Amino acid sequence: MEKTQTTCDSCSHKASCSSAGTKPCENEQERRNRQLMDRRLGSIKNKLVVMSGKGGVGKSSTAVNLALALVNEGKRVGLLDVDIHGPSIPKMLGVEDAKPRAVEEQILPVMCNELRVMSTGFLIPQEKKAIILRGPKKNLLIQQFIRDVAWGELDYLVVDCPPGTGDEPLAVLQLMGSGTMAVIVTTPQDVAVLDVKKSLTFCEELKMPVLGVIENMSGFVCPHCGEMVDIFKSGGGQVMAEEMKVPFLGRIPIDPALVKSGDDGTPYVVAYPDTETAKAICGIARNLIQKAES
Ligand code: ADP
Repeated sequence: MEKTQTTCDSCSHKASCSSAGTKPCENEQERRNRQLMDRRLGSIKNKLVVMSGKGGVGKSSTAVNLALALVNEGKRVGLLDVDIHGPSIPKMLGVEDAKPRAVEEQILPVMCNELRVMSTGFLIPQEKKAIILRGPKKNLLIQQFIRDVAWGELDYLVVDCPPGTGDEPLAVLQLMGSGTMAVIVTTPQDVAVLDVKKSLTFCEELKMPVLGVIENMSGFVCPHCGEMVDIFKSGGGQVMAEEMKVPFLGRIPIDPALVKSGDDGTPYVVAYPDTETAKAICGIARNLIQKAES
């Protein structure tokens, strides 16, 4: 997949660098912020934003488990949860009590199974979880969040984006900049697939390449007889991906253990590596690497 280089980390201080000059309508502070953001994102080889047309399709579960599957493939991976209103990743990873350290105006990510994790959930005090933030403040928080985390060198940054096609996903996609690729999660039913088409149009309008579509909750393998049962139908995401001419990355079957592992804070692909569902997630991670790095 063709990618646009956001910045060159080693040269962004030089006057000759395109990111060094001040852009029209930009004040000194904004210029510094932009350069810092460019430098931060410049040390990340692949930026993946995991999106969904609506909530509840398994976007966060997919983001967490895909990130861990990428670690299993030997990649250096960061996972960023920018869902201001419902950050669920700290709980899914069992690190909800972690307190990220701040060093020289940077926030150090929390380490979990070799994954570097940052979530709005770490920074918003527990009692203020039902946080009310209006547009510009929300954007500022998302911006600081992307800019101030000391990820270090990463092969992949997986971003769990707020659902839908509103202001928050828009802010995230714009701030992540060029070279970012979308991974879209859907469930197989027609109603979910319709929402995903909106996500694809959204990416198209923002000129954001779509790395692929994942169909989650796609069938259920009966633990007693091994037969595959299509609880929410199956194949809808794949048909839609073909129709919309975007790659299909694979299907993730339903497994009740995935719900339990999310609730218990024991990451699924680590706790149940031999299940069909974990194998499917690892297969998708390999597909994704192949598409992102070719
Ligand atoms: P979203 O981020 O889209 O709102 P979540 O990842 O929070 O969705 O998932 C919603 C619920 O569905 C969670 O309880 C999660 O454990 C469950 N879930 C997600 N994917 C699967 C799956 N493949 N099998 C079983 N349960 C799943």
